[in-house]
Amino acid sequence: MHKRILVVEDEASIREMVAFALRKADMEAIHAADARAALVAVADTPPDLILLDWMLPGMTGLELARRLRAEERTADVPIIMLTARGEEMDRVNGLEAGVDDYVVKPFSTRELIARIKAVLRRSQDDDATGSIEIGGLRIDGPAHRAYAGDVQIEIGPTEYRLLHFFMTHAERVYSRAQLLDHVWGGSVYVEERTVDVHIRRLRKTLEPFGLDGLVQTVRGSGYRFSATP
Ligand code: CA
Repeated sequence: MHKRILVVEDEASIREMVAFALRKADMEAIHAADARAALVAVADTPPDLILLDWMLPGMTGLELARRLRAEERTADVPIIMLTARGEEMDRVNGLEAGVDDYVVKPFSTRELIARIKAVLRRSQDDDATGSIEIGGLRIDGPAHRAYAGDVQIEIGPTEYRLLHFFMTHAERVYSRAQLLDHVWGGSVYVEERTVDVHIRRLRKTLEPFGLDGLVQTVRGSGYRFSATP
């Protein structure tokens, strides 16, 4: 099956260029010139991924992203935002709106296709994951919940994503840069020390259950999730 990518972009030349690159990569492009057309397009069959321009006439890309996230049919469809330089400051808002990744204009279609493939791969991993249990800690992938035994753990969204990544990639060491890439989607505006902050929070979340030792520091390398001390 071809992956169907919805391209929401008001500039026809960019839309055409992206559609051409998608076809070459064996993917199908669906066009929308504004938010209204995008909503019509997703109402029928939700696409596999949405490429969303930040600056659109009428409803902005950011507003549209929030709306797509709020609707059950499109809540899990990955979104890659296309932004112009100088719009970086607003990216934090984008993260909160649930955007999966960003590509800054002007971009090469090669880079864009690589990002699309990476995001599609991540979302497929999520679907296939289901429930995982390691060392007394369990995550329910589809429900985005974590449990210690039968007790549900209160966990923040970023800590959950981090934990989910660790548990689906246990026993391997990841550098801060790799964790940024996998968990934060390689967003350039997140600094590496952000990883340390969220690792600390994740350990604090697991501490009352005596499970914080699962998240291990590997000196000079990064972090690892392991049931072996
Ligand atoms: Ca635009």
